[in-house]
Formats: sequence, C-alpha cells, structure tokens
Amino acid sequence: TRLVFAFCEGDKDQKDLLGGKGANLAEMTRLGLPVPPGFTITTEACRFYLEQGREPDLLTVQVTTALRRLEDEVGRRLGDATDPLLVSVRSGAKHSMPGMMETVLNVGLNDRSVLGLADASGDERFAWDSYRRLIQMFGKTVLGVDGEAFGSALEAAKLRKGVDSDIELEARDLQALVAEFKQIVLVHTGEEFPQEPRRQLDLATRSVFDSWNTHRARLYRRRERIPHDLGTAVNVCAMVFGNLGPTSGTGVCFTRDPATGKKGVYGDYLANAQGEDVVSGIRNTLPLDDLARLDPDSYAELTLIMRRLETHYRDLCDIEFTVERGKLWVLQTRVGKRTAAAAFRIAVQLVDEGLITMDEALERVAGAQLAQLMFPQFDAGAERNLWTRGMAASPGAAVGRIVFDPATAVAWHARGERVILVRKETNPEDLEGMIAATGILTSRGGKTSHAAVVARGMGKTAVCGAESVTVDAARRVAVAGGRTLHEGDTLSLDGSTGEVFLGELPVVPSPVVCYLEHGLEVALAGVDESTAEVIRAVDRLLAHADRVRRMRVRANADTGADADRARRMGAEGVGLCRTEHMFLGERRPLIERVVLAADAEEREAALAELVAPQIQDFVDLLTAMDGLPTTIRLLDPPLHEFLPDRAELMVKAAVARERGEVDPNDVRLLAAVERLHESNPMLGLRGVRLGLTVPGLFALQVRAIAQATAQLRKAGGNPRPEILVPLVGSVMELHLVRDEADSIVAEVAASECVDLAIPIGTMVELPRAALTAFRVAEAAEFFSFGTNDLTQTTWGFSRDDVEAGFFAAYLDKGVFTVSPFETLDASGVGRLVDIATREGRSTRPDLKVGVCGEHGGDPESIHFFHSTGLDYVSCSPFRVPVARLEAGRAML
Ligand code: PEP
Ligand code: MG
Repeated sequence: TRLVFAFCEGDKDQKDLLGGKGANLAEMTRLGLPVPPGFTITTEACRFYLEQGREPDLLTVQVTTALRRLEDEVGRRLGDATDPLLVSVRSGAKHSMPGMMETVLNVGLNDRSVLGLADASGDERFAWDSYRRLIQMFGKTVLGVDGEAFGSALEAAKLRKGVDSDIELEARDLQALVAEFKQIVLVHTGEEFPQEPRRQLDLATRSVFDSWNTHRARLYRRRERIPHDLGTAVNVCAMVFGNLGPTSGTGVCFTRDPATGKKGVYGDYLANAQGEDVVSGIRNTLPLDDLARLDPDSYAELTLIMRRLETHYRDLCDIEFTVERGKLWVLQTRVGKRTAAAAFRIAVQLVDEGLITMDEALERVAGAQLAQLMFPQFDAGAERNLWTRGMAASPGAAVGRIVFDPATAVAWHARGERVILVRKETNPEDLEGMIAATGILTSRGGKTSHAAVVARGMGKTAVCGAESVTVDAARRVAVAGGRTLHEGDTLSLDGSTGEVFLGELPVVPSPVVCYLEHGLEVALAGVDESTAEVIRAVDRLLAHADRVRRMRVRANADTGADADRARRMGAEGVGLCRTEHMFLGERRPLIERVVLAADAEEREAALAELVAPQIQDFVDLLTAMDGLPTTIRLLDPPLHEFLPDRAELMVKAAVARERGEVDPNDVRLLAAVERLHESNPMLGLRGVRLGLTVPGLFALQVRAIAQATAQLRKAGGNPRPEILVPLVGSVMELHLVRDEADSIVAEVAASECVDLAIPIGTMVELPRAALTAFRVAEAAEFFSFGTNDLTQTTWGFSRDDVEAGFFAAYLDKGVFTVSPFETLDASGVGRLVDIATREGRSTRPDLKVGVCGEHGGDPESIHFFHSTGLDYVSCSPFRVPVARLEAGRAML
C-alpha cells in the first residue's frame, strides 16, 4: 500500500486519504501554483498507528523515499550542516478542525544545522530564532513539556534585556535562550533535545497522529459530528520563511469576505512573522491592502492566484501564504468556512457571475445556516451604552455575564447562566469554554484568529481584537475607556458590527423572519444593502428549493394562531395537532370530571360540556389551514397528566385526617389518582389505549372534528381534516377506533346534510406497528411516523430523561455521534421507518406517509425521509423554512 504521496501525485478529490489540506496542496501543485514541495502521509497510516499503537513497517521506507526525492528536488538535505532543508509537519484531516491538532515547524534544525542556516540566510538572528521556536514547539507538542516553562524563560530573557518584544532580542540573546530551552527539555524529560533530523521528523509525525485523539479534538468532532475513526493525514512540507526580515511576511486571505459575504478580497497580513503568529492572534495583523503598499509585486501575484483558485474551486477559497524575501509561496488553500449570511450571499453571487448553477447554489447553503439567520438581533432603536468596539468576527446578538476563563464559563453555563467568555486571545485549550459561552470577546487577533475561526464554525457570536480592552484574567477584570468590568457583569456583543455594549440590550426578530412571515417587500423596507442582499438570497434559494423538492412540508401546530404563522412560513398543511394541549389549563377540571365520573350518565354530562369548546378549537385550526390538509390527533398523553399531583393530594389528605376535616371529594380524587398511577406512564394508559378504555372520549373529539368541518363547509370553506390515532401497536386497535369514528362522521354528515369524507390514519410510533404495517395499513388511510416515541421504544431510552443523563458519556465513547432524538438513527429506527413504508404501501399503494416527530425538522433526518420515499415531513412552524430548504437539497 501507498502510505506516502508527493504533492505532485494527488488531487483535490482524495480528501479521505490525504486529508483536506493534503488534497488541496496536491491540487495547487497540479495547477502550477507556487507551493513549496513536500509529501503527505495518508490517513490510512494514521488509522493503523491509532489501532496498533505503532507505525506500519512500510511507512519508514516510504518516508525515506519521499524525503530523498524532496531533498533532490530542492537540492538540500534535511538538517544538513550547510544550507539545510527544514520541513514543517502539519496535521490535516478530511474535515478541517482549525487549531485542534498539532503542527511543528522548522524540523531539521540542530546544533550544527543552525549554523548552516545562519550562513545560508546570512541572518544569524533568524537562524537562532527558528531554532528556539523548534525547541519550544517540539518540546511542548511532541515531548509534552509544559509550554509555560518556555514562555517564562522567554519573558525573563526580554526582562534581562529590558525590551518588550521578541523582535528586539538579538542573535546572541536567542542563542543563549536556545541553550536554556534545551536545558528545560533535559530537566522535564530526562533526555537531550533530539539532534537527529530524521528522528525529529518521525517523532513529530507520531505526535500529529496522537493529536487526533486529544480531548479537545474529540470534543470538536462531537460538536461538528465528525466521526472519531477517520484519522488525520500528515503533511511534510519544505519550510519557507516569513520571518526573514521586512521583505518577508505571512498572511491569510479570502477571495470574498467570509463574515459578511461582501464581494472583494479580504485578508490579514503580518510582516516578518511565521504563520502561527497570525492564527494565534499574538500580534494584531494588518489588512491585506497594506501588503499592496509594502510589496506590490507579491500582492499582484496573490490577487491573480486568488482569482485562479476561486475559478477553479468555483467557491470562496481561503489561502495561507508566506512571502520569503519578496517571493510568494502558497502554503494552504481550502473552500473557506463562512457565516450563514455569507453562505447565502456568496451562493447567489456565484450564480449571478455564471460560475455555478442554481442547483449548486442550493447545495452550498444548509438548513442549519438558515436557522441561524432566523435568530433575533439587537433592537436598533434601543438605548445603547457602547463600551468598546472590535472586529465583527462572527455575527449574532449575544447577551451574557462575563467570565475570564473556560472553567468558569463551563461551570456557570451548567447552572443555567448565559456567559460571555472574555480572553486576550483564545487557543484550542479554551474550546470547552467557547462551547459553553453564548458569545466570545477577545482583545487581540483578527478575523482569522483562532477565536474568530472557531466561533464562525460553531455559529457563535464573537467580537475579536477589541484592542482598547485590557484583560486581566488573574484578577478577573477587563478595563476599557476607563471603565472596569468585573466577573459577572453583563455585556451585549453584536457580532455583526463588532460593537460591545454595557448591560443587556433588548433583541428583536431577525429581518429574515420578517421576510418569511411578511414577504419580501415588507422585509426590505428600511434595511441596509447587505441585509437586503441576504434576504433576497434566502428568497431565491427557498424558491428554488420549493421548485425542485418532492416532499411536502407541513407544520406541527395546535392552535389557529400557530397554524396561521406556519402557513406564512410556507407550511403546506398541519401534520400534527396535539389535541391534549386543548385540554389543559381552565378545561382541566372538566376532564377531571370525566375521569372521576361515578357512572355513565355523569361522564356523558361532563363530556358534553367539552363539545362546544372543542368544535371552536377545530374551527379555528381548520380556518387557518383552509384548503390544506390538517391532521388532528386524538388525545395522546397518560390520563393522570390531567389529574392533580399525587404527592400533593397525599399531603392534603394527611393534614385533613389530622384535623378531622376529611372531605369525601378529596378522598375520591386521591383514590382515583392512586388507581391511575403508573410506574412507566409513557408505556401505560395513553394514546389509543386511553381512547379504548374511557368511553366517549375519542367519540367526543371525532364528533367535534366532524361538526367543525360541516360548519365550515356550509359557510363555503374548504376544511380538510384528517384524523390521526396515536400509539397504535395492533391493527385491531385501529379497527375498533375506526368503527366508532366512521359511524359518528356518517351520523354528523347525515344530520348536517353535507358530504364528509374524513381520512383516518395512524401514528407509527411503536416497533410493532412498524413490523406489522402491512396489516395496519388495512385500517389506515395514512401513516404518520412519531419518531420521538419510535426512537424511545426502539432503543428503550426514556425520551424525557436520557439526554440529561448518560448520553454525554455515550457521545464521548462514540456509541453515537449525535443524540438519536435529534437526528434519526437511520440504521436502527430508520429501518423500521423503511419497512413500515414499504409494507404499508404493499397493502395500500396510495398510502400517504409522513413524519411528525422532532426529526421532521432536522436536516440530516429530512434527507433520510426523502430517500425512504416519505410524502411529507411535519415540524414546528419555525423549522418549516429549514425543512423546505433541506427537502430541496435532498433532491440534489
Ligand atoms: C412522536 O412520538 O414522535 C410524536 C410526534 O408524538 P408525541 O411527541 O406527541 O409523543
Ligand atoms: Mg408520540
């Protein structure tokens, strides 16, 4: 097997094997762009190492061959005493995981080659600085030495010299520092810093492999739903130097603005620096325009390369580059991460520029991004108290109390607080805190700093590089403009403008929601041009999704008002009305009377009182959905949910007994509650079981639906109700309900003199219903998958408990990468969906099949339902646009 590929041997489609970075380096090499030569060690080698705990035997040999070829190509030898070749060793997995894994630069330097480097570059200072960087980076990441040890030695050296910045340290200071760093390595590891260049390379490679499994990398993958078994590739690349004086430098650029989607190139540049300095946010960067001034030739070449890459990838690219003494090198490119707004804008821009089709544009945006655009924003009209301002690094409106370290962020978040994490800059160790935070504020670093890149990836609000803020994490204070804030103070971050306000600013609905509810014209009035461009892009892409999609999208709505809103959001019907919600509140005592009735007469009287309000409920709902299918589910939850709390009643009874004031009604109530008490109510008397046990309950609901329909029909409306029976496990249950329901509908039709054909269908939310679907379909005109209960009963997980319980451990151990209550477990629960759909249709070819569990609004699940051949998904009104978009994307 090939475990090593030279850059000139691969291409961009080999991301599985070469990782994203390796595949794109290969592609750029093929395009003839100025990429330093190098080679990629495959993810397969990494997987072998992670599984077996050792490198494959072939790897050593293949690395030797690739290294020799590389040496021949550049005419230098790794770590040679005169003019040495140095290499960078970088991780690069299939999916980009910014800053999560290791990088080691300047591999090949040792006590002899540092002199060769000094000679060849004519810059002694540079050579010693590179060597101390190697020992520092290698010591920390490969040898596991605490980074602080090097950091404080460096600080001490600056202090001794009386300077502020490392730039001011001279060659002999750095030479002394190298000696000190080597001593630190010796003390901390008991061994000398490895001098042998090849050994350095092999150890660095191994540490990149190992970094796949660090805590932070696992955490990141969990969040991004990246599988844990892919492994990373390792890229070994001839070093070029951005820190060779003022005509050198390094930067990151984007072919369009990844934060807003604005047209035109965008980037950060740092003169006389190495790549890590930009990403780590250690020094504040200059905008790309400054490069145009400093080095017009390199800027012109870079501009050309950006255009070529964008044309080639037909998408926004981000590029890492280095200028070494006036010569431009491209070190990395990829299709760039971007915010939700930028994704929509850029997709439509590229269509208008003729670079991609509308179908491709639809592929480039995601339902999750649309959901993000629907989040609220700060109220522009509210009184605001500006504290400071930074770069608009990741959009959104975040309000929270400030904390200064990730551990506090996690702890406060766990007790239900919204927190803003305030840091000088972030690094990968802050990840847990960043996940816990609502927003992130840093005082250093640009739009390409770690904080910005990670926040954008997570869809989290961030303001970066707020230079006027002095962050003192040790004392837990932040100062700006003479105003000191303490841990726990409240801030409001506007990630779209970079403004930071004191206190809590009120939020208002997003303009995209305004568009979805009220249409283009209303939404465009009074918004700025960039917001208008986002809205128009959403409009065009949703319209395209509606044109191409096969599945219908309905909403789960319980009231007329809900249904109305859902309809404006594009719902094509109601897929689930949970009627139990109509029985709570002030109507609960009526239900109590039904349950507690001493005899049939009393029960019927109680039921009769519910008829009129139920009819009104359905009139409202059917009016809002006039002309569209409206699925009304008969009462589902356990009966005891409609009765008073058992513990409270017991206390009350005990007190009454003591006082000798026993109320016979209370006694009866308690007895009934005791009788109906169940240890597993979700597996007990609910759904159709309730309907078959409490006489008259379902009949009342069916009658109300029929009456409401007749009333509306006579008034000229077009109500289209469908009756849904919950928690069916056997066709027999359905037959029993049907027999009664059919006769009630016929009776109402006759007495009201209208034609009433109301389809009756069933929820499929128990494995038995799914497995006997060919029988169930005999009595059901449609199926609606209740994937919440189906997941609960298939896995045997209590839907109300597990997500707060052991799921964290399960996610950590990789039993699943996402909760099965959030994204449908395609291989287990999904199989039942597939079986039931196929077998149900084998009995009844025109069986309509939909889903109304939470999964109906989840993008990944929607794709599954599409491929399983469902007719529609139903989700909460706010997810309807997301589902429309994803149902469209599922066609591509
Ligand atoms: C379901 O179980 O998926 C469902 C839609 O019903 P409910 O959530 O009301 O139990
Ligand atoms: Mg259910």
